[in-house]
Amino acid sequence: MKIARIETFLVPPRWLFCRVETDDGVVGWGEPVVEGRAEAVRATVHVLEEYLIGRDPLTIEDHWQVMARGGFYRGGPVLSSALAGLDQALWDIAGKAYGAPVHALLGGAVRDRVRMYAWAGGDEPGELADSVSERIEAGFTAVKVNAVGRVPALATAADLDGVVQRVALARELLGPGRDLAVDFHGRVSASDARRVLPLIAPYHPMFAEEPVLPDRPHLLRDVVTASSVPIATGERLYSRWDFRPVLEAGVAVVQPDLSHAGGISEVRRIAALAEVWDARLAPHCPLGPLALAASLQVAFAAPNFLIQEHSIGIHYNDGADLLDYVLDPEVFRFTAGHVARPAGPGLGVRIDEAAVRRADKSGHAWRNPIWRHDDGGLAEW
Ligand SMILES: [Mg+2]
Repeated sequence: MKIARIETFLVPPRWLFCRVETDDGVVGWGEPVVEGRAEAVRATVHVLEEYLIGRDPLTIEDHWQVMARGGFYRGGPVLSSALAGLDQALWDIAGKAYGAPVHALLGGAVRDRVRMYAWAGGDEPGELADSVSERIEAGFTAVKVNAVGRVPALATAADLDGVVQRVALARELLGPGRDLAVDFHGRVSASDARRVLPLIAPYHPMFAEEPVLPDRPHLLRDVVTASSVPIATGERLYSRWDFRPVLEAGVAVVQPDLSHAGGISEVRRIAALAEVWDARLAPHCPLGPLALAASLQVAFAAPNFLIQEHSIGIHYNDGADLLDYVLDPEVFRFTAGHVARPAGPGLGVRIDEAAVRRADKSGHAWRNPIWRHDDGGLAEW
């Protein structure tokens, strides 16, 4: 069996899918994308394609090594995301060729179901109460909220109070038996993170996410030790090498994205690395059906998995949603906030190829918002 053809599809709301076909007619799908830089990842996939065409799709690890290391320059979001999507597609092909779900090829499932959390509120969370209540009604046992919207270089008293009020409100609605995650999105300074984490600690968040920007791992230890709140990070880290300093700083939860951090092959290794520091795996996934399917395969195989993000109904998904591109939406059915173990071969999801080809015709040009401070300077989004 040889890799015969690689296609990419730019599909709304902001995703890129790849389709890898073998000369035997086996098709594997993946999701190589950086949100807001999809076209750059698409070009990179087609550069990597030059090496893959004509080769055996089942030697996944060797292809991973060549794609990650063979170009001399390595790492970063664009290359690591192109590699991630192709890696997913190769695992999908392997599963279909061997007639097994990917988690079976990774050593077999270590759990029967996977716990999911849902986003509540948007980027500037105003209608938080209604949103949290809806998620509880839908059966979720954990929700995540944004801690802040746009904040100045150093937060005001009103900004800090706003975080505490938001967290307190969500906790009151959730009660003590459900979990609350709080995402800082790298929007506050490290010093503000140290100020605000002790204030929200009494509400016992499951974790606080990205309290400092990913390019400042040297500041993370002070933030970790500023309060008892478990710290999570990793959606903007791309390899086990990127994760080592944040693990050494004492984070409790690692959040590699299956479509950014080198795919199934590398996220599986990042999870194992995290075990050394007693950290849990909670894959980042505001993306489409293939990123989610790949996340679930690792979640079923990784012993230190904690909880899974998903994008169904998320505030970014304007004009299209995750289930628009799948023929078997029941594989993503949430029962009491959990997903059942997928039984299908490969990634365990069947893609609606006609819908994907149709969607690619309109494409998208999604870009994240550019936020400005009151004085006109650039603010973190
Ligand atoms: Mg986040």
